[in-house]
Amino acid sequence: MKKLLILSLFLILASCAEKPQKELKTRNCKNVIFMIGDGMGTGHISATRIATVGPDSALTMDTMPYTGFVKTHSANRLITDSAASGTAMSTGYKTDNGVIGLTPNGTRVKNIVKACQEINMATGLVATSSITHATPASMATHVESRNQQNEIARQLIENKVDVLLGGGLGFFLPQSHPLSKRTDDLDILSTAKESGYDIAQTREELLNSQAKKLLGLFGPVSMKTTEPEPSLADMTEKALKILSGRKTGFFLMVEGSQIDWGAHDNDFQEVLRQTRLFDEAIAVALDFAKKDKHTLVIVTSDHETGGLAVNKGDRDGKNLVAGWTSGSHTAEMVPLFAYGPGGQRFVGLFDNTKIPQKFAQLIDLKDFPQE
Ligand SMILES: [Zn+2]
Repeated sequence: MKKLLILSLFLILASCAEKPQKELKTRNCKNVIFMIGDGMGTGHISATRIATVGPDSALTMDTMPYTGFVKTHSANRLITDSAASGTAMSTGYKTDNGVIGLTPNGTRVKNIVKACQEINMATGLVATSSITHATPASMATHVESRNQQNEIARQLIENKVDVLLGGGLGFFLPQSHPLSKRTDDLDILSTAKESGYDIAQTREELLNSQAKKLLGLFGPVSMKTTEPEPSLADMTEKALKILSGRKTGFFLMVEGSQIDWGAHDNDFQEVLRQTRLFDEAIAVALDFAKKDKHTLVIVTSDHETGGLAVNKGDRDGKNLVAGWTSGSHTAEMVPLFAYGPGGQRFVGLFDNTKIPQKFAQLIDLKDFPQE
């Protein structure tokens, strides 16, 4: 009898001791860093690898252990734009080209930022385009047209995204201001200050900010992606510093926005430069994830741009010749790289709507489509 009592006491103690471990297991993935190279297909990555480190070496993204492929078509077009694919990757629903955060019939669907906020995760968006551009906008806002950048600026602040870093100052200033892009008198910058955001407009102000909510706008519309601006890597590092202060985890989206623009221009050197800048930001994210051990890093693209392939070149990677099939987006599937807890779920070929559905499963999002 005494033995039985001791045994059952032992079992009770053992089951108590197991509990915290179990909890950790159900939410092994604490943070998500979602990195989108706009317009970045396999051609852009191959070319950048060959030109930068040679065909036998690796970019940072090449070192990520799990790889997959993603289909990008939208609800109404074979060839997507960034609004429809951003919406797919943020809400788990397909929509029409140009639409953000709504289904084709106009129904609002929950986005990844809102879903993460509901479980008390911190959220951040970083881009080198205007922060009101289609990809960052699709993570946190709802508008009928991606062109409604004034409304997107208002919603980004209203929706309390903790960290917003990129271009687009003009969309936050009232029309009386010489740099304004607005057609009304709303002063979103002042609204942001009043609701607790620190404002940064230079690299120094970015690095020195001690705030928990930060709005960094480095240029009236898009960033130049040259000094003295902060680099995409600088912005990623700062965002991680702020967001990782949240004990309940964070979601950060980082966009290499201008790979797409170089490809629209069929400007090979610019594609290489922008993809390198994106890869430097990926290095910052991976460093963080390797130390943290509970951070999932996903690197992918919203669509391919340019139909780019390397046609000719020396064995050592010099004298590359690029071929382009388009000055716009293509229907090519795009690559995906994953690192961290749950990364193995991103192996294979799947639709872009599956990406947030996999996030939802890994971080236990509520009332959100799950795979
Ligand atoms: Zn584009």
